[in-house]
Amino acid sequence: MFWNKDIETIGRKALEDLQLKKLSKALKDAASTPFYNKVFKDNKVNVDRITSLDHLKDLPLTSKADLRLSYPDGMVAVPRREIVRMHASSGTTGKSTVIFYTAKDIAEWADLIARSMVATGTTPDDVFQNMMGYGLFTGGLGLHYGAERLGCMVIPSSSGNSLKQIQLMQDFKTSVIHITPSYALHLAEVVAGQGVRPPDLGVKKAYLGAEPYSEETRNKLEEQWGLDAYNSYGLSEMNGPGVAFECEKKSGMHLWEDFYLFEIIDPDTCERLPDGEEGELVITHINREAMPIIRYRTRDLTRVIPEPCPCGRTHRRIERIKGRTDDMLIVGGVNVFPSQIESVLMKVPEVGNNYQIVLDRHENLDRLHVRVELYSKMFSGDMKELNRLKERLSEELRALITVNPRIELLEPGSLPPSTGKAVRVIDNRKI
Ligand code: AMP
Ligand code: ZN
Repeated sequence: MFWNKDIETIGRKALEDLQLKKLSKALKDAASTPFYNKVFKDNKVNVDRITSLDHLKDLPLTSKADLRLSYPDGMVAVPRREIVRMHASSGTTGKSTVIFYTAKDIAEWADLIARSMVATGTTPDDVFQNMMGYGLFTGGLGLHYGAERLGCMVIPSSSGNSLKQIQLMQDFKTSVIHITPSYALHLAEVVAGQGVRPPDLGVKKAYLGAEPYSEETRNKLEEQWGLDAYNSYGLSEMNGPGVAFECEKKSGMHLWEDFYLFEIIDPDTCERLPDGEEGELVITHINREAMPIIRYRTRDLTRVIPEPCPCGRTHRRIERIKGRTDDMLIVGGVNVFPSQIESVLMKVPEVGNNYQIVLDRHENLDRLHVRVELYSKMFSGDMKELNRLKERLSEELRALITVNPRIELLEPGSLPPSTGKAVRVIDNRKI
């Protein structure tokens, strides 16, 4: 089943012609923004000289830090009145990275999601329960618009509130869900706790994304729920979900090449790697008027699958994301940088020199512990004062990273002292 067969099965030559046309426009649009205007000048880039796709590799890379530097709108290529939506994702030290869309951008993104959903066999007869967070995060509204475009009945249940989710599934006969893999594992247990076998709910498909997980977790979820699970990849800088999606064959994600140019680079040398080698995914958005982004370093590690997919789609596939080349953690679907936690802790005068971030999973939900050493004078007897401090740290962290941490206050010397590069993060989650 295809949503737009012509474009999904387009030949390489026609695709490349289309890509070059779109790239030229994206570069011109980018050159009109304060950020790229300066970058292109500094790097002596003349966008009129980019006449082949091969020239892409000579353009400078864009990073998350660049998006922060151009906060709030240094990368916007259209007048303010043409923008109809923004989304945001966490930056490295508090300031978000903000993404803007025109009405055309939103419509075409919805179309891309509809294309992705049809590639897994979803039809307007399906009831789609969207258990991803609605709001600044792209996962909720992104799939929502796409599923409506396709014609599904959409239940915008957002994340959390498990008993309500189960009731909605039962009452409205949900057939397709969109959910993070960790929440799907947890929800299966809550369902079982209600005396219901998850397969009896009748859900046929799950779209799993927003965080890394393994093939084993997919298999386990398919078994537990009695459904087919499809991998869904995206990032807010590139709209959100819908960048790459698995088809019915479930063997790698088609990266939609009429919207995105992608490259795999060596994260250390930034040189392009040949097809099939593992490296960092770099993406150029060639289909967004409000905010073109050129050669964005996703920090995600993957590999291109060079062989054609038996489904007939010609857009190349990437493998499941193996990990990241930076220290970003994904906790319950939320991006958290250790430096954000450190920035909060180090502002508090009672906090000593050592801390540790410990991640684990309890009943399949991510838990973030922050273990902090205090100065010894803090342990002179007043429990109330310690509790107040705990409360304050927890509130300040929650305000910045939006994840609820568990704080443990420790006497000096409780944590292993650092004897070289400090090991601040201990990730005990099994994904
Ligand atoms: P955000 O911009 O908040 O949507 O976060 C995007 C990041 O989430 C990506 O750069 C990946 O690191 C991660 N991510 C999204 N989808 C997947 C997926 N299917 N598998 C692994 N990681 C994912
Ligand atoms: Zn395919």
